[in-house]
Amino acid sequence: MELKVSSDRIKKDIEIIGTLSRDDERGRTCFSYSDLDMAVRSYLMDQMADLGMEVSVDGVGNVRGRLPGQSDLPPVLSGSHVDSVFQGGDYDGVVGVVAALEVARCLATRDEPLKRPYEVVIFSEEEGSNFGVTCAGSKAMTGYLSLEDVKKLLSQSGMSMYDMCSFRGFDPDRIPSQKVAPGEIHAMVELHVEQSVVLESESMEIGVVQSIAGLCQSRITFKGSANHAGSTPMRLRQDALIGAARVISGVKGIVQEDPSPSVVGTVGYIKCEPNVSNAIPGEVTFSLDVRDVSQEAIDRVMHQVGLLVEQVASDCGLERSMEILGRQSPVNMSQSVARVIADSAGSSGFSCKVMNSGAVHDAVLLSSITDTGLIFVPSKDGKSHCPEEYTSTEQIAKGAQVLLSTVISLAE
Ligand SMILES: [Zn+2]
Repeated sequence: MELKVSSDRIKKDIEIIGTLSRDDERGRTCFSYSDLDMAVRSYLMDQMADLGMEVSVDGVGNVRGRLPGQSDLPPVLSGSHVDSVFQGGDYDGVVGVVAALEVARCLATRDEPLKRPYEVVIFSEEEGSNFGVTCAGSKAMTGYLSLEDVKKLLSQSGMSMYDMCSFRGFDPDRIPSQKVAPGEIHAMVELHVEQSVVLESESMEIGVVQSIAGLCQSRITFKGSANHAGSTPMRLRQDALIGAARVISGVKGIVQEDPSPSVVGTVGYIKCEPNVSNAIPGEVTFSLDVRDVSQEAIDRVMHQVGLLVEQVASDCGLERSMEILGRQSPVNMSQSVARVIADSAGSSGFSCKVMNSGAVHDAVLLSSITDTGLIFVPSKDGKSHCPEEYTSTEQIAKGAQVLLSTVISLAE
């Protein structure tokens, strides 16, 4: 008999997690390692223990609950995160954990265990709300965040990630020995809300992610000369904000003219000095964030913006600098896992779209050590990281059903 996920249990879990992790009027603010986060974890760990799963917590607080298989072969994993941004929504991350738990509940009712063990995973600190590093839990698990890093990372209040983990009873000194090596996990599948409008606008039920966009983040500064807004003639001005405005408005055209249809570029931060109404801006710094599934497109856009910065600096008599702050290459999900997801969606009769993700998820880190898949469910109006974030229980249940079939296929 085909196993069916329960929408009622999914709905109830999401409501309970929402209630446990909310102490604010507006949205869900549940930072990793907070009292609220600990309450959510303990609810989920109790649920796992009730199913007879062996639950363990690593040095940065990643939770793994294991449902034994017929063998001790490397397990199939599924999960996501339960931490949030400041005043975020109830679904980002949470649906992936709830769906993974629901899969465990269904599997626990089978007379025969799966061939491979199945694990539910809750990754710590995905949003980077405490320490500014996103996916910190999955980075530690896959060796991209060392014990030294964890000692250096500080929260706003000055507490290190190391001390925070120790305070919560985890054992961060075990981070090096807990790093998961390639081969130790058979496959990993994450379910996540899309956080965009593609599935909704095309009335699709399931997204199968092919690639996750890479990014390049940079900081551009123009230096001119601050001076009196009344007494400095226009021809003698070195106005840094005029230069910045030309580049900022030029970014859109450069991005739109690029042959890659999916590349995006954003200037989201600007600092103007002295930032007063009666002085010519002497120095302006702004951010540039460029993302795509094609590294070539990211490089092309960065190159074109660089040329524009040079041009503007020479036209306006400004000094300029362009500094790369961070890069991440685009990541491809496993094609074989994607095929299993698409087949699972098809056999359940759900519409399914092969697509890319503009946002980074824990699955990106896991893909460095194992075959990894990412399933999307629609986000209402594409909203995320805000209280208006919404995906219906029915939509989540469809995703969870696809996840269940996918896990069974991968574990058998
Ligand atoms: Zn997320």
